[in-house]
Amino acid sequence: MLTVGIIGAGPAGLLAGAYAAKNGAKAEIIDKNERAGRKLFLTGKGRCNITNGADRDGFMKNTPRNGRFLYSAFDAFFSDDILEILRQEGVPVKLERGERCFPESDKSSDVIRALVSYSVKCGARLLLGTEVGSIEKDETGFTLRMSGMHGGTRHYDRLIIATGGLSYHLTGSTGDGYRFAESFGHTIVEPKPSLIPFETVEEWPKELMGLSLKNVTLRAYKPEKPGDTGKKTKKQKPVYEELGEMLFTHFGVSGPLVLSASSMLADDPAGAVLTVDLKPALSPETLDARLLRDFEKYKHKQVKNAMTDLLPQRLIDTVLFLAGVSADKSIDELTKEERTAIGETLKCLRMTVKRPRPIDEAIITRGGVSVKEIDPKTMESKLVPGLYFAGEVIDADACTGGFNLQIAWSTGAVAGESAALN
Ligand SMILES: Cc1cc2nc3c(=O)[nH]c(=O)nc-3n(C[C@H](O)[C@H](O)[C@H](O)COP(=O)(O)OP(=O)(O)OC[C@H]3O[C@@H](n4cnc5c(N)ncnc54)[C@H](O)[C@@H]3O)c2cc1C
Repeated sequence: MLTVGIIGAGPAGLLAGAYAAKNGAKAEIIDKNERAGRKLFLTGKGRCNITNGADRDGFMKNTPRNGRFLYSAFDAFFSDDILEILRQEGVPVKLERGERCFPESDKSSDVIRALVSYSVKCGARLLLGTEVGSIEKDETGFTLRMSGMHGGTRHYDRLIIATGGLSYHLTGSTGDGYRFAESFGHTIVEPKPSLIPFETVEEWPKELMGLSLKNVTLRAYKPEKPGDTGKKTKKQKPVYEELGEMLFTHFGVSGPLVLSASSMLADDPAGAVLTVDLKPALSPETLDARLLRDFEKYKHKQVKNAMTDLLPQRLIDTVLFLAGVSADKSIDELTKEERTAIGETLKCLRMTVKRPRPIDEAIITRGGVSVKEIDPKTMESKLVPGLYFAGEVIDADACTGGFNLQIAWSTGAVAGESAALN
């Protein structure tokens, strides 16, 4: 019987093991953690955004790097396939805003339990608490040196590397897969953080720490050239523009809009400009009319006390500071120019990216094993026959919304099946 070793019991490795076993191989899934799916446990804030209801075009739009490489894998195994497995294992799902798919129970642990059960039912064996240190290749296959619960050496005819990326390394993804791939001559596209919060050059966002904004529009503009410090010409088009939620933090900005914007910015986002439209539903003219109405209602008051219907209290001082208007000024003394400046600031609160947070805080790693060296139909290495890759270790990444887990499910299933059948 053909033997397939899979390094990593994350979403990609569990599916790879299940599909290798289902297709007749003796499959063993090895993970250094004592439990499978440790990162999976954290996904979707513990709720697990399993996949997305979008069609393939929607997936492509949400996969800024190497989406085309994934076409065949998505053709072979897509969102309905993972949902069918979960259904069989007794985990019903629900769709939320943006076609995000979650378990009805809102528990990522249910998804992990279902996948472990499925892979075991398919015939895969899990070797947990076991770390792979090195791999040697000879004409008969791969010899793995391992430490921990199943320490020693083990030989496999085929090998699937599903070791994940470089972020949240306490979950086990410490970049070992890159080291293994490099030892076989593979090119590693430099791993960088993606879906990552930003530190800002300006201090004022940090003073607003803890404040979250809902129903605002965030726009992100690329730095025009490396080293630019936040210049943005009127002509420049945003690389990202979306309505949603964001959050001010002790270092700058975070939240769903910011994470998604980071995925669309260049490898080095330093100097990129972020603007927030605090009143996206109002045109500049309608907003000015609204300001006039509020200022009439609160005439004789200080301007900071005349904007409470429009903004949360903590934001008022910042908006006035950025508009260059004294917060204590009486509405009676406010000039038309000052009102215009307030309106412009409300429509375009502007920040400059200093740097992304460290890679360990990233939701996903961009970069990894170059897709030029992997067969997209089988996930087999083009350099080393019998060697396969699956999941985040590959240089392909997507936006938030369940797209990254689908990449892991699809590439895992394809790698497992191909390793067993090729
Ligand atoms: C906080 C957070 C929230 C997220 N939420 C979502 C979400 O809701 N939806 C979504 O689509 N994506 C989400 N993601 C991204 C998603 O978790 C990853 O894309 C996915 O886990 C990648 O799967 P993987 O199997 O490739 O790698 P991983 O899940 O990282 O699994 C790799 C496994 O390999 C093991 N391993 C590594 N090296 C070795 C070795 N030498 N020996 C033995 N074992 C080894 C590790 O222990 C680990 O268990 C989130 C990520 C984070 C950090």
